[in-house]
Amino acid sequence: MRIRFRFPPTGTLPEGEAICPYCGGKETVVHQTHVRKIKHHKINEAVVKRLRCKKCKRTFRHYPQGVSQAQQTKTLKAMSVILYILGLSYDSLVSFFFALDTPLSKGTLWNNMQDAGEKAHFLRKKFLQGKIKICGLDTTIYKVKGKEEIVLLLSDILLGKTIEVEVIENRKAFTLKRKLTSIFNQLGVEVVVTDDAEEMEALTKHNPLVKRQLCLTHLKKATSIRIKKLEKETRKKLLKENNEKLNILLKDLKRIRKLMDDLPPNLGENLKEIHLRYKDAPFPKRGEKASVFYQMRLFTLRLWQRNHDILHFRKYGIDGTNNTTERLIGLNGKIRYKSMRGFKSKSSLNNFLQTTSFLWDKKQEVDEVDLSCVS
Ligand SMILES: [Zn+2]
Repeated sequence: MRIRFRFPPTGTLPEGEAICPYCGGKETVVHQTHVRKIKHHKINEAVVKRLRCKKCKRTFRHYPQGVSQAQQTKTLKAMSVILYILGLSYDSLVSFFFALDTPLSKGTLWNNMQDAGEKAHFLRKKFLQGKIKICGLDTTIYKVKGKEEIVLLLSDILLGKTIEVEVIENRKAFTLKRKLTSIFNQLGVEVVVTDDAEEMEALTKHNPLVKRQLCLTHLKKATSIRIKKLEKETRKKLLKENNEKLNILLKDLKRIRKLMDDLPPNLGENLKEIHLRYKDAPFPKRGEKASVFYQMRLFTLRLWQRNHDILHFRKYGIDGTNNTTERLIGLNGKIRYKSMRGFKSKSSLNNFLQTTSFLWDKKQEVDEVDLSCVS
């Protein structure tokens, strides 16, 4: 991955047309001019003009580019944000800016990160006011003060962008429902791609308008493991007893494997037909191991029941995997996360995630990150 940054520039003189922030008036007269000290790695001073609006008679300041009422310039602020995201701690940042002769306190640096996080969140919300039909949902674990915290990530599968990234209390169906129902409605989500977990299944039950697509990578992997295990057990049994039913079971397993590879439109009918052959396999007696036939009964029933969550990908022209969401989870957090022990507070983690995901999303290939927007 190649990353190129574009930092907001800093000027020394106010440029361009000054517009009155009170009435929008464009005609002004210079009321006062003064030179003020600024924190920038190359420039020490900037000229600030105090203008009087001819229309409403009020005065306001006209700053050079990148300069504000704060001492630090936007260039410096952006530098601190990107260095933090790339893995420097607040203490290292203090040393870094001290070496540049532009000392920034830990408190200022911390505020810069919180500001960037909030702005990124706001900009993303604004950006997403369009419709998003297909999204991916996944969770991951971060450590805050040594404690594990769950972070939820919602992605736009088609564009490969993050929609929402946030720390949540737990992964229970109720929490997911509360967090996501309004987002789904707002964006007009029709399909959500998730892993195999039951709480994800419950999520779409509470949102009847949203269909769920089981991630095909997860599904195929889990099914393949199950098939192999059942095949092994069945073959072992065949050595001891020559039972024609065991041969049929092996053929059925082979057929399920093929069905999982092809995922034909009539998947449900095929799974039903197979399942019906095993539906009367008896429960294991107490202390007894479940027979391969009973295992087959459960396995095929579960697959058949979820048949509706498997085939949406065809209609929506997606690959049916949640790879996009997983890639974004990696991109957003893990780069910095690897280099640190964990975050000190949930809000720091939240703001960090907001900023990184927003910046990375701005360019899909992450070859240029424009920091003007969050500084
Ligand atoms: Zn005015």
